[in-house]
Amino acid sequence: MSARQSAIATAISRQIRKIERPKDLTGKILAVNEYFGEATFGLDQIKERLAKDSYESLMAMVHKGARLPKNVSDEIANVIKDWAISQGVTHFCHWFQPMTGLTAEKHDAFISTRTSETGQTMVLEKFSGAALIQSEPDASSFPSGGMRSTFEARGYTAWDPTSPLFVMETTNGKTLCIPSAFLSYHGHALDTKTPLLRSTEALSKHAVKFLKMLGDVDINGVTTTLGVEQEYFLVDRAMFSLRPDLIMTGRTLLGRASTRGQQFEDHYFGSIPARVLAFMHEIEQELYKLGVPIKTRHNEVAPAQFELAPIFEDSNLAVDHNSLTMDVLCRVALRHDLVCLLHEKPFAGINGSGKHNNWSLSTQRGENLLEPGKTPHQNLRFLAVLATVLKGVYEHSDALRVGIAAAGNDHRLGANEAPPAIISAFLGDSLSKILDRIESGAIVEDSAEEAIINLGVSKLPVVARDNTDRNRTSPFAFTGNKFEFRAVGSSANCAVPTSILNTAVADAFAQMSERLEKKLSQTKSRDEAVLALIKEVIKETKAIRFEGNNYSDEWKAEAKKRGLPNLTTTPEALSVFENPKAMSFLTKYNVLSEDEIKARHNIMLERYIKQIEMEAATVMELTHTHVLPAVEAEVERLGNMAKTIKEAGESISLDRLENIKSIYENLLKAESSLQKEFESAVQIHDESKKASALSTKVLPLMQNLRDIADDAEGRISDSAWSLPKYREILFVK
Ligand code: ADP
Ligand code: MG
Repeated sequence: MSARQSAIATAISRQIRKIERPKDLTGKILAVNEYFGEATFGLDQIKERLAKDSYESLMAMVHKGARLPKNVSDEIANVIKDWAISQGVTHFCHWFQPMTGLTAEKHDAFISTRTSETGQTMVLEKFSGAALIQSEPDASSFPSGGMRSTFEARGYTAWDPTSPLFVMETTNGKTLCIPSAFLSYHGHALDTKTPLLRSTEALSKHAVKFLKMLGDVDINGVTTTLGVEQEYFLVDRAMFSLRPDLIMTGRTLLGRASTRGQQFEDHYFGSIPARVLAFMHEIEQELYKLGVPIKTRHNEVAPAQFELAPIFEDSNLAVDHNSLTMDVLCRVALRHDLVCLLHEKPFAGINGSGKHNNWSLSTQRGENLLEPGKTPHQNLRFLAVLATVLKGVYEHSDALRVGIAAAGNDHRLGANEAPPAIISAFLGDSLSKILDRIESGAIVEDSAEEAIINLGVSKLPVVARDNTDRNRTSPFAFTGNKFEFRAVGSSANCAVPTSILNTAVADAFAQMSERLEKKLSQTKSRDEAVLALIKEVIKETKAIRFEGNNYSDEWKAEAKKRGLPNLTTTPEALSVFENPKAMSFLTKYNVLSEDEIKARHNIMLERYIKQIEMEAATVMELTHTHVLPAVEAEVERLGNMAKTIKEAGESISLDRLENIKSIYENLLKAESSLQKEFESAVQIHDESKKASALSTKVLPLMQNLRDIADDAEGRISDSAWSLPKYREILFVK
């Protein structure tokens, strides 16, 4: 049996994995609320166990960034250690999100030693405040984008008390994870969490100022909320292990589309396969223990593609929870002999995976600022906040595009399956009509209140909820009480796009306040001034609003006319960094310093280059080690057959042999031109130019090679083909 056949045999004989469900001592199965968050330790749990004064010191650290006295941090560490040990935890780690897009951890045991009188080594469990608050992983193994010179390899992680600590349970042990930020010794952010926290602070400051001017004097803090819908693929581990391209690059670089794809649209919302459902139950159970409120699960559009989504939370927590979710998805999948693929485009010809970032703004009281309310004031405020978000997106659409740029996501944003690379916002018909009426000034009123009623704004809650005309093609769609940023890639760390969005909106709030201040000094009625400002902003930002089909060519032409950037590839998107004005708002609001921006540019370029180089090298190797040998075997088989027949004095059509031979020649040619172009691209010194060459010269030649190889796959003997085929990877269950 060939390796491929044996993989199929393995895949179809898998047993469904059964797990223990959480039970109480009597054996009764627990409801989710009875075990939700049992593996976490957050501020509530710390508060319960801490002296009042100590807890107040901790709150001063959380809210005002005050230093934690040493005795207090030791007290907190002790409380945490006692709880962790009672859970059977032996190790702890600072858990952080470096700029690789992944999570990182370095484990230490709780033990420390002392020597007995006789000189024997004794062990005791210890955890100091210093170890809780700060740790020093060797930063040199994480990307710094040039911010850290080699002699200053050190970096440190700092505990983020606003995100609960959690215990990661693996087969033979438990580790306490301490959510942390990661900084260089000079205070540069080496991670994605730090800029996110800074962006929330900037947004809060400028939103509060504006809202107070609107009359909401009791609003003291604004935060952003995030609900992340995560798409992923599941493939059998046996198939996966026979695909060097999936193992190395996360996507199939070759592979003929199977005759059945997603054309019947029968997978989406179809019944979930039993083995996958067993996997989902386990995922949810694990995530509930970890305090992640997973709410929905379903099949996605492509075969073998699925989605899960939590209930939204504060952005910082939601980002941590999404990173944790990705991690748990991959780990639990293996227990089911499945591999979870988080790449944006694992398979050509069927949909790729994204991550819809549902985003909104909330006051410290939990009021959603993108939710129209009951009173005219709330509705006016809603319109003002909506206009502010549109302004932020309009003015910083290029930065927002940068925030979602990655080699994997290029396959989605360039194709008609996900929102295009052109950033625009969709509001829906009814809401658009209201904005149009405000803009045209169709109604001239005596009072703003009357205007609000006449504009139909009093019906806003109903209008905003009118989701009948949902536009699935829009990258940034208003869906009733939140925006859905849909262009984010499935493997992305959501902190990146969210930080940029938060800062863009913070900038817009700052400008709105300035302009409102001027208007207020000129008119008596506040509401009139606000309405006048909304009207101006609606007009100014009109170019960013698009209600039509984002996949159409007309939109591309129209967007060009409107002056909206269409940066279809990562190298094009990263060129935005070369325009200092485009990113300077991040520095203005203290979210990223110039050095930190430069570092991110370097890292994004480097990651893109490495990814494409790896893909090119892998596809060339696959050609030599799998595709060409299969074709050679086929040529030999057909040649032998022709020879036998000729020797028998008979004749036979040689078309098939000639065809396969010409495929063989074409493969050799295609591989050698790829090789040549690849070699000249990797010689280029300038990183931006190298990335461009990889994108515009190497990728098309990889595609050309693939087209020929995929054609070969469909023509030669099935038994000669060594790589698992799409139909097997996607449909064999
Ligand atoms: P739909 O997009 O179909 O209306 P849901 O209401 O289920 O779907 O929401 C999809 C995601 O958006 C979920 O993760 C949900 O928690 C999240 N979401 C809902 N309201 C908000 C909000 N105010 N802020 C951020 N995310 C939200
Ligand atoms: Mg979805």
